[in-house]
Amino acid sequence: MTDTYRHKGLRRKLVETIKEKGIKDQRILEAIGKVPRHLFMDSGFVEFAYRDQAFPIGSGQTISQPYTVAFQTELLQAQKHEKVLEIGTGSGYQCAILLELGVKVYTIERYRELYLKSRTLLNKIGYKPYFFYGDGYLGLPRFAPFDKILITAGAPEIPQNLKEQLKIGGRMVVPVGGSGGQVMIVVERISEKEFKETKHGYFAFVPMLKGKE
Ligand code: SAH
Repeated sequence: MTDTYRHKGLRRKLVETIKEKGIKDQRILEAIGKVPRHLFMDSGFVEFAYRDQAFPIGSGQTISQPYTVAFQTELLQAQKHEKVLEIGTGSGYQCAILLELGVKVYTIERYRELYLKSRTLLNKIGYKPYFFYGDGYLGLPRFAPFDKILITAGAPEIPQNLKEQLKIGGRMVVPVGGSGGQVMIVVERISEKEFKETKHGYFAFVPMLKGKE
């Protein structure tokens, strides 16, 4: 669990890369500069931790590309102390970035193995979200409403349950589409019944699947 000067140097370079690609929010750049991504990688890929790429993390899933993590986080516009629901804990990296922003994170993962692994790691290095093993399509009605909802897997459509768990004035960031790629959509809840959708470019995520394993 070591974080060396070399790692810090590599992170500084990664922050520069992400900045050049268009991320402006200073809080997010600082978070990327702080979270030791190498601890979230599978052992076979550790040496590539500070490349701006996605990598396998087991159970057929991936740790998202740092630029994509930063882009989704920027779209989320999360403010300190807000309640954020993350669908797809995966490696826990995105979760750590959110926690660095001072928000309260509720994170759900459908693979038991990944849920256990990321829970152990995050707790060990001092990150404290609320962890849930289950199907993100259902959200967490007991803890709703949320200020923000972030989906980190490609959803075939905007999940209705999750729209209903948004606060009025809240926003959800969700990649929508099939295996060929997804459009990044921001859903804003304007009132009880009104939602506004905006599109923000194309991405490639692993699919959001129903049920749990
Ligand atoms: N946020 C993660 C990204 C992991 S990839 C990270 O930073 O590493 C997407 C994750 O979503 C995978 O771990 C996958 O298992 C999970 N996932 C897919 N469908 C889901 C669902 N219905 N509920 C919860 N998690 C889901």
